[in-house]
Amino acid sequence: MSDQSTSNSKGFDAQRDGSGTLEWADHNENIQRGCSHNCKYCFAAANAHRFKTLARVNWHTESLTANAERTKYPKRHGVIMFPSAHDITPGNLDACTRFLKLMLDAGNQVLIVSKPHTACIAHLVAELATYRNQVMFRFTQGTMDAEVARFWEPGAPAPEERLEALRLAHGAGFRTSVSAEPLLGGLDTARAVLDAVRPFVTDTVWIGKLNRPRNRVDMKLPQNCLAIEAMEAEQSDANILALYAALQGDPLVRWKDSIMHVVNDSGPTVLDCVVNDKRQGDLLVTILAPNSQAACEGAELAAENANVLLLTDIHINSHL
Ligand code: SF4
Repeated sequence: MSDQSTSNSKGFDAQRDGSGTLEWADHNENIQRGCSHNCKYCFAAANAHRFKTLARVNWHTESLTANAERTKYPKRHGVIMFPSAHDITPGNLDACTRFLKLMLDAGNQVLIVSKPHTACIAHLVAELATYRNQVMFRFTQGTMDAEVARFWEPGAPAPEERLEALRLAHGAGFRTSVSAEPLLGGLDTARAVLDAVRPFVTDTVWIGKLNRPRNRVDMKLPQNCLAIEAMEAEQSDANILALYAALQGDPLVRWKDSIMHVVNDSGPTVLDCVVNDKRQGDLLVTILAPNSQAACEGAELAAENANVLLLTDIHINSHL
């Protein structure tokens, strides 16, 4: 069931104006510096390196900060995302559990975001059972391909383990959501993730691009440069528009700002957004257009170029 909250009520998955983590929550909390998941694209690692608080080569080492020692926490307006600059791992599970209870005991709503270890989630669903109505889990699943995940997120659980953790949280009656940001591929990758997680998601699947990879990934390593070039090609504007056109009717899907920037900057060119898909011998054309007139023009143009029965699936987006 989708959350119908508005920006005023500040519920989980409310429409928020901010970008990045502020699209998901009104506040962030963290209790650790460093993260053993050691993702190549990690914004927190890049920032720590830039501001000289932790060298990139040492990001995989975890140390609790003073925030982990807090004994009081206020009731805050809106949703708190925890964590946003590290993850919940076997090494910090007890500290994270204590801090989560501190926030929840004050009556807060907490969005728990993780590339989840099954054992950690088993522990959390048991420990937080009585707070079920105040919690949503959001697990990052940018690919279902174990090799791709291992390259970009070498210390994090494999996609199958994350799926198992999602199944576990869903089975325990918690609200669940998935982040396919960064999506580690293109449309086929997004479809594979959606197919795998759909039965275990109560709310949303957020899809976003790999953000600013050249600023965040260590470009001194040739294998990283090659991987980024491949990802930039796979996530070109044309491919992102095709991804948007193909999946925007899916009721689970929400788009991160990185996708919407491409969509909103794309202009009113209908044919840029045409996606062809063979379905039982017919040609299905999805047309993404800013208004009904442009959609009709797109449909006519597509029909002129088709010599088989044409089915049209038209989406109007006034932001185009
Ligand atoms: S799990 Fe998150 S915080 Fe940890 S390294 Fe990966 S991107 Fe960074």
